[in-house]
Parts: sequence; C-alpha cells; structure tokens
Amino acid sequence: MSPKCRGCGEYIVFIQTSNGKSMPCDPSLVPYWAKEKSAGKVVTPNGKVISCEFEGDLNKVTGFGYISHFSTCHHAARFKRKRRPS
Ligand SMILES: [Zn+2]
Repeated sequence: MSPKCRGCGEYIVFIQTSNGKSMPCDPSLVPYWAKEKSAGKVVTPNGKVISCEFEGDLNKVTGFGYISHFSTCHHAARFKRKRRPS
C-alpha cells in the first residue's frame, strides 16, 4: 500500500535523504536544474537534497529528482499563503 499525504490525500513516497531523514515527496520524477541559493529543493533518487529550479533549457537539465511534497501539497499551501483560486 502506498502512503498518502494526511493533508491532501495525494500519493507520496518517502525518500531517505543523505542526513538520514525520510522526506515525503511526490511520486513522480521531475527534471531539475541545479542552482545554488535557488528557492526550489529537489531530492535525487540517492537522497541528495539540491537547490534548484524546475524550469530551464532541456538540453542543460541537471537530472531528475523528487520534489518535496511540502512544496506541492495543496493543503500546506493553504496554511502558508492564501491564494485566489483561479
Ligand atoms: Zn499533501
């Protein structure tokens, strides 16, 4: 049975990061472009957490990784900032 987010009910995967923590992530791999001090965070399949952006030149993609579920969770977003539903 796959774990689900308690907030929004979406499927998540737990990726073991290099510092020994399990991080809830979205189950699909996304392309990322590593960039220092970027706001985005990606976890590589072998557990490295990297600052990155999620858009860029496809020819220069750094790799594929998992995006933290905290940054995509609809439920979490509701607490952080109220966004107008479009
Ligand atoms: Zn969620």
